[in-house]
Amino acid sequence: WLTLPGPHGVPVEICAGGDVPVEPAAVTEALALLETAGTLERLAEATSGYDGPVPRITRVALTPDFHKGAGIPIGTVLETEHALLPQAVGNDVNCGMRLEVTTLRADRVRARLDALERRLRHLFFQGGRRIALTPVQREGLLRDGLPGLLLSGGTPWQGHRPEDADDALDRVHAAGHPAATADAFADWIGSAGGASHDSVIGGIGGGNHFAELQYVADVHDAAAAHAWGLTPGTVVTMVHSGSLSLGHQANATALAALRAGWPAGLPRPRNGVLPFLLDERSEPARRRYLDAFGNAANFAVGNRYFLSLTMRAGLAAECGDAGRGMSARLLYDAPHNLFWRDGDRAVHRKGAAPAGGHAEMAGGPYAMWGEPVIVPGSMGAPSFVLRGHGNPRTLASACHGAGRRIPRGASARGGDAELDAFLREFRVVTPLDHRDPMVARRPDVMAAWRRDLKQEAPWAYKDIGPVVSSLRGGGVATPVAELRPLLTVKG
Ligand code: 5GP
Ligand code: MN
Ligand code: MN
Repeated sequence: WLTLPGPHGVPVEICAGGDVPVEPAAVTEALALLETAGTLERLAEATSGYDGPVPRITRVALTPDFHKGAGIPIGTVLETEHALLPQAVGNDVNCGMRLEVTTLRADRVRARLDALERRLRHLFFQGGRRIALTPVQREGLLRDGLPGLLLSGGTPWQGHRPEDADDALDRVHAAGHPAATADAFADWIGSAGGASHDSVIGGIGGGNHFAELQYVADVHDAAAAHAWGLTPGTVVTMVHSGSLSLGHQANATALAALRAGWPAGLPRPRNGVLPFLLDERSEPARRRYLDAFGNAANFAVGNRYFLSLTMRAGLAAECGDAGRGMSARLLYDAPHNLFWRDGDRAVHRKGAAPAGGHAEMAGGPYAMWGEPVIVPGSMGAPSFVLRGHGNPRTLASACHGAGRRIPRGASARGGDAELDAFLREFRVVTPLDHRDPMVARRPDVMAAWRRDLKQEAPWAYKDIGPVVSSLRGGGVATPVAELRPLLTVKG
């Protein structure tokens, strides 16, 4: 733990063990955030008619994977009073991780990897998925989230199980975000009539997003792992995806409104982070933002569900048992780009996962062991499931990954031998099949594909080991099971 005495009396708490590389630029960015604390006070003074309490940033914490973002580091947990900061949520509203535990064993899947690769490429990228939403389902999803989608009746999709509706109510952290209407993305709703909108729903999204098959390679907490079905050799599916373009649109709209309504004469903070005051007069702009935010968040959680269904369909077709088939059940779905409002107080997480302890999780399926925390490493490294301890120093939050070590552009250069070694050892399914002779004859296409892959290569990310040790050492979360990749689908 490191506590930086930030300006304006707000300490910045950093949880990062000695072996985790810390980027000075990210620390500078975190401290600059407290300039926004000063701006908030002046904003309240400069806003005519505002006579509410002084808006404040009350706490800032950084998780071990923190790294520089756009104005606010990724891995930031930030608490405010009487204000909301759309940028402290990140652009990909309700980006999150979803983990399902299957009835399959690793050796079964390993023996079928070639066929599975072809099947998943077809399902994800070659028009093989059939996700049709009725207008009622679409409206239910955008307005009420995953329960709205699954409880609105209509045709079940391939791979859907009746239990999914119950799981949406108690195994999904942010299943439904209050949105007054489904209007913010009316074009998305309206355009498709009764048919599917394949180009949007069920898409993985690019870059760091993925759908991955993994197996339990090691167990660190036998009792919790047993309770969660994470026994050695069990195959799980991990999905990382967000709101695709919807969240970006919601945030862009919010920022435009904030810039337009910014009081004349009040300098904007240098980091460009602009807050909303939680007062009556910001109501219409805030309402519009909250509606768009809610719609985007709800879309994201539904999209992760469809990505999991696609994985189920691929596994059932290629690895299912002749007699018993195969099934998969949700362990947990948790967001890492979201805010949580409780009256005048708001906790924002940008690239940080909720990590409540058993007290926070009382009454639900995680009351005994605490909140599952899903921490992916990379497509060539282990990932972890941990259990949260509700540590107040991070506002009950943990990492959501290993964290980027090399910036995007820089990681695309060099490393050809490393990439070849990686491709020999790991299986990555992308829209383009690099083993296809037609593709191999197009050096330009191959070069672009290799460049994209290098941005996501294991060496572009921090070592997951010290990151997980920091969580344990800091009393934030303890490891339950270690997962290793069998196959990664990258958008
Ligand atoms: P984000 O992009 O949401 O900030 O971070 C996601 C985290 O996922 C990264 O910090 C990284 O550790 C991890 N990650 C990125 N790509 C992959 C992948 O293909 N497979 C796995 N298991 N983890 C990944
Ligand atoms: Mn995302
Ligand atoms: Mn993410």
